[in-house]
Amino acid sequence: MINPNCRVCEGQGWVCEKHPQKAWTRTGCQCAPVARCECQVALAKTTRLVATEA
Ligand SMILES: [Zn+2]
Ligand SMILES: [Zn+2]
Repeated sequence: MINPNCRVCEGQGWVCEKHPQKAWTRTGCQCAPVARCECQVALAKTTRLVATEA
């Protein structure tokens, strides 16, 4: 689950591990291993909360 409108990861869901504000793309940054974007983490938490309530 990613946010397709995320400005950080450009909707990819992945960012540079050393630069969490840059997308893991050629135009972003690939100087370090890939890492999850904050939008992925946020959606994961939301999904978990909803699942717990249901
Ligand atoms: Zn994102
Ligand atoms: Zn980087």
